[in-house]
Amino acid sequence: DERVLQAMGAVERHRFVDTGLVNQAYEDTSLPIGLGQTISKPGVVARMLELLCAGKTGRLGRVLDIGTGCGYQAAVLSHLAVEVYSMERLRALHEKARNNLRAFRLPNVHLLFGDGMTGFPSGAPYAGIVAAAGGDAVPQAWLEQLAVGGRLVAPLVTANGQQALIVVDKTAQGLKQTVLEAVHFVPLKSGID
Ligand code: SAH
Repeated sequence: DERVLQAMGAVERHRFVDTGLVNQAYEDTSLPIGLGQTISKPGVVARMLELLCAGKTGRLGRVLDIGTGCGYQAAVLSHLAVEVYSMERLRALHEKARNNLRAFRLPNVHLLFGDGMTGFPSGAPYAGIVAAAGGDAVPQAWLEQLAVGGRLVAPLVTANGQQALIVVDKTAQGLKQTVLEAVHFVPLKSGID
């Protein structure tokens, strides 16, 4: 998706990793960001954002980004959506993202510290919801906060214990879930730390 390529081209990934990893920032791999978490592989970020934008013209409206991590995906999303609400459950990473994003001056990115499993009702309904951490089920709050016509893209643990990427479309007739390829994300955890 040309929009996704442009957005990714506008955000320098090396500014989101530690100095010792800068020379690997443009390889298509996930990298550690501290506290056992990772910045997602760029190819997977692109794939998820392309799915989020598919079938829509122009900018997405409000988007909920679960698992801010270092803030990279939130920065990319700022070029694709009108408003980005990005939640992180680890305070140290929430603060790291705040520091990383300061220089980019992205007024439409709202960093929120809290358990993303509850979503963020104040920003709802969302045109898109995207998660960078995978659980056994899609939290009910996400489905409730998704707009009719909106799309959710997330990793989900499937019957074989592995994770797969899933897409949930909310239509006037109800929810439609599609299971896509296998992925490897950090676990979705409840509560804050
Ligand atoms: N999009 C991030 C990826 C970070 S990895 C980036 O671009 O760097 C996924 C993140 O999800 C981790 O930081 C982890 O702490 C966070 N996470 C896991 N469960 C969560 C929850 N319930 N609410 C919010 N964040 C969560």
